[in-house]
Amino acid sequence: METINNKTQPDGSETEESADFISEFIKADLASGRYASVRTRFPPEPNGWLHIGHCKALMVDFIMAERFGGTCNLRFDDTNPEKEDISYVEAIRRDIAWLGFNWEDREYYASDYYEYLYDLAVRIVKKGHAYVDDLSDEEISDYRGTAVPDKNNITETPPGRNSPFRDRGIEENLLLLSQMRGGKFADGAKTLRAKIDMASPNLLLRDPVMYRIRRETHYRTGNDWCIYPMYDFAHPLSDAKEGITHSLCSLEYEIHRPLYDWFIREAEVFPSRQIEFARLNLTYTVLSKRHLLRLVQEKHVSGWDDPRMPTLAGLRRRGYTPAALRSFISQIGIAKTGSTVDIAFLEYCLREDLNKTSRRVMAVLKPLKLIVDNWEEGKTENLEAVNNPEDENAGTRTIRFGKELWIEADDFAENPPPKYFRLFPGNAVRLRYAYIVTCTGCDKDSAGNISAVHCTFDPATRGGNAPDNRRVKGTIHWVFASNAVPLEVRVYDHLFLAEKPMDAPKEDYTAGLNPDSLKLISGARGEACLAEAKAGERFQFERLGYFVKDCPSIMSGEDQSVPVFNKTVGLRDTWAKIATKVKLA
Ligand code: ATP
Ligand code: MG
Repeated sequence: METINNKTQPDGSETEESADFISEFIKADLASGRYASVRTRFPPEPNGWLHIGHCKALMVDFIMAERFGGTCNLRFDDTNPEKEDISYVEAIRRDIAWLGFNWEDREYYASDYYEYLYDLAVRIVKKGHAYVDDLSDEEISDYRGTAVPDKNNITETPPGRNSPFRDRGIEENLLLLSQMRGGKFADGAKTLRAKIDMASPNLLLRDPVMYRIRRETHYRTGNDWCIYPMYDFAHPLSDAKEGITHSLCSLEYEIHRPLYDWFIREAEVFPSRQIEFARLNLTYTVLSKRHLLRLVQEKHVSGWDDPRMPTLAGLRRRGYTPAALRSFISQIGIAKTGSTVDIAFLEYCLREDLNKTSRRVMAVLKPLKLIVDNWEEGKTENLEAVNNPEDENAGTRTIRFGKELWIEADDFAENPPPKYFRLFPGNAVRLRYAYIVTCTGCDKDSAGNISAVHCTFDPATRGGNAPDNRRVKGTIHWVFASNAVPLEVRVYDHLFLAEKPMDAPKEDYTAGLNPDSLKLISGARGEACLAEAKAGERFQFERLGYFVKDCPSIMSGEDQSVPVFNKTVGLRDTWAKIATKVKLA
């Protein structure tokens, strides 16, 4: 079974803290008899597509359940009708299934609990621990007060003020609450608030709102309701309804925990327990649905599944594998303290997997004609090429060779710089899987641009069977001109130039967008077999990197007459260098 780490960090260093503190909690809860078995849940709000941060959260939920022989529910936390939509539910389901997690018949919706939640609200009102308030939203926050720095710059939270409606009688509250539900009042005219402590240093405990009036059509419950429960009320009680033992969530909910416990206690329901872990942050990336939604809405990207997006759908279209993502999350661990993970480490995990699993082929991004002058006109020959040297079961394929080939324009230099081992007049290189050729010169068009390169081949060097005296320093890739497949290639760079995009002035991360994050290369040529590549199939283009046959966006339904390949990641491992540096420091 997959483990979520251990104390070893990606750079090889050891952390002090046990990154497996969640397991420790769970073990103790089982040993003490607090819970008999383990039940977790992944609770996305269907208001955006899942990103790699959610991947961490859902892996923690699913793997902890699996580790202790329990179950993990998928619950859509859909209590905010303004922003939620069925298309988000579908995208979330698709992404979790793609990662390989199975929730079978354990798919739930907070919106199915509206009646149950309402009953619990009534229960709390009957105890005298919740009241209907007539203050407006602005008045509520004004009465609640704010944290202010004192003269020594120490943050203080002077007590808030009680609402004049705080001491309404139970009967009146019950009547008003049922009238709120019945549609008697305008949106925003009243709220139901928990009666906790207007002097609490934790502002969240200053009589938080439980229900608000909103005449919005919900994507599942339609117009059945005009009052909707707030997150802090709905979440713990939905957990309790499902008998969730360990409600695992990211660290920003730590401050909500007293409220989580308060609602469970007051509603007298199953005692679910909340445990927090650090959010995942990645360099050169923003991870928040709100911010990602803005990138989509303002068309900085082509959609939620743009291959530059850190969404699971974007990463999938980019060529990421479930195995690479799972390995990444397992290795970074689930420490309590937050940190930002270097995106080069994510790319390292991806390369590790692709190197083992992807078929090698040849493709030329910037084609230049190479003519083998001493090759007989019209003759072709089949050569054997290895599909994947890392996987002996991957076999071999035949590739055609003949007089006219495409090579990479960069692999020829009329006047080579020092240490250039590729083609230049007088120099010999090996054409991968084929012959050693010696460059004899080039043709130029009227503008002086190089239009073709000429060479001669040595018949004794076929397919790597070079006699010992024919060693050459360079090997270059090529494709046979007559059966090459035209390709469009999309090359990506980080979406943001800044390592921490949210550090931008006024947090306007869009200012730090990388204008060159997408380069379109039309006119590339690939080996004949690429004509049959299936959408989502991954390849290593020899010497160039890993590429994936694009799955046209679900969002745009783009028509691709020429096969499109997305560059997933280059071959060069930048992480190894960083890791060595870190170790040495
Ligand atoms: P965002 O900030 O991206 O909008 P969210 O917390 O509002 O995320 P939810 O759909 O409510 O989105 O999140 C579902 C779960 O995913 C929550 O339990 C949350 O703690 C967790 N989660 C969200 N972002 C991250 C992250 N970057 N790292 C780890 N867990 C995350
Ligand atoms: Mg949330």
